Amino acid sequence: MKKQVFDTVVVGGGASGLIAAIFSARKGCRVLILEQKDKLCKKIYATGNGKCNFTNKDWQASYFRGSDFSLAEPVLRSFSFVDTLAFFKEIGVYPKERNGYYYPASEQASSVAENLVREAKRLGVECMTGVKVNRVYREPYIDSGTVFVAETDAGIYRGRSMVLSTGGKASPAHGSDGSGYPFAKSFGHTVIPVFPAIVQLKADGKFFKTLAGVRTDGRVTLHIGKETYSEEGELLFAAYGLSGIPVMQVSRFASVALANKIPVTAELDLFSVLKERELTEEIARRFRIMKENTAEEALAGLCNHKLNYVMLQLCGMEPTKKAGSYGQKEAVTLTEKIKHFTVKITDTNGFEQAQACTGGVPLNELTESMESRLVTGLFITGELADIDGTCGGYNLQWAWSSGAAAGKKIGGTYASHSTVETKH
Ligand SMILES: Cc1cc2nc3c(=O)[nH]c(=O)nc-3n(C[C@H](O)[C@H](O)[C@H](O)COP(=O)(O)OP(=O)(O)OC[C@H]3O[C@@H](n4cnc5c(N)ncnc54)[C@H](O)[C@@H]3O)c2cc1C
Repeated sequence: MKKQVFDTVVVGGGASGLIAAIFSARKGCRVLILEQKDKLCKKIYATGNGKCNFTNKDWQASYFRGSDFSLAEPVLRSFSFVDTLAFFKEIGVYPKERNGYYYPASEQASSVAENLVREAKRLGVECMTGVKVNRVYREPYIDSGTVFVAETDAGIYRGRSMVLSTGGKASPAHGSDGSGYPFAKSFGHTVIPVFPAIVQLKADGKFFKTLAGVRTDGRVTLHIGKETYSEEGELLFAAYGLSGIPVMQVSRFASVALANKIPVTAELDLFSVLKERELTEEIARRFRIMKENTAEEALAGLCNHKLNYVMLQLCGMEPTKKAGSYGQKEAVTLTEKIKHFTVKITDTNGFEQAQACTGGVPLNELTESMESRLVTGLFITGELADIDGTCGGYNLQWAWSSGAAAGKKIGGTYASHSTVETKH
């Protein structure tokens, strides 16, 4: 009996898998998606705090890390943020822009997920959920030389091509449990070590318990050997250390350094609106005019009150002592602490809390169509490849661009039916 062979089997029904499936089906491919979770695109529902920041109009090399950006750029250009907006509008997701960041106008990530799934089903993509792929390999096949095989507990599925779109290791609760790496390795690919990215940082210091929950605008600068990585925005203190968007943006550098036993420190500017001299003058002025108040009272309204308290203590100053007992010298010391608050980073939170991960299959092992340079017909998309973006819609843009690149190539090479109408 002749075995059923799909034009392509997509392993992993997340962001990049859905796009790859849609683009290949539009060209007439018979497509099967195998997804281990109970529904497709589970992670998309959680993105952007439930609002899904699905792309960004400002894109530069520095927003993408990992493999040499020159290898990612043609992929991103071939399906740019403009193409992304047009595609999502076409499938029903009307975009809304906020400072260059794009969300669905509905402000519901579910709109992105549901419209993707609807479009895939409209095109006749066969979607199997609750089916984990355990093993992938190639076997000889009568008509086409070899076929790709995906082994699952529910059966064996074959494709003339295969897309590995299993995601990385970040947020395994949404399905990306790292199972794609051994699949890529089994086809001979290298896997660059994988660490959490866009993640909170753990730091040394008893005072973090007191500061937990404090939010303040400021700048974080990571010092790693001679390198520095800096971001500005809202910093958030937690009992374990540091969080907030700027911290998450630089976290991947800490992850990689700590894994290589390189010490990491974070220097925080907790009052970036004033220059050092201005802040010293402001503190000294407060000590002068509120000399009968406590030092803590004199600082009230400058930084968050918990920060004022901890900073005074760390400078060896008694918060309850009269402000008048302090002067210019202490104002300089306090300024130094507030503007250059330095802590030792001991670790990052784990993959469970991470929004992305570093590492994966290096881009120099893939073509601009995300096809393996080692195995013709094998495609690797999304986070499984060694590229990670900063917060701001860049990781999803990579998922869309890499998925579209693979889908178009598969559509142009393996389609056994005629092109499917894209307009609704
Ligand atoms: C909480 C959170 C918020 C985020 N917010 C944003 C945001 O606002 N903007 C942004 O740009 N990025 C955001 N990201 C990152 C973004 O979601 C990912 O980079 C993107 O989803 C990666 O796409 P992917 O296709 O590579 O993998 P995923 O979307 O992770 O999909 C992989 C799929 O493969 C399936 N799978 C894995 N192994 C198997 C197997 N063996 N068998 C069958 N199925 C398998 C998984 O179940 C999963 O459904 C966020 C991430 C998280 C965790």
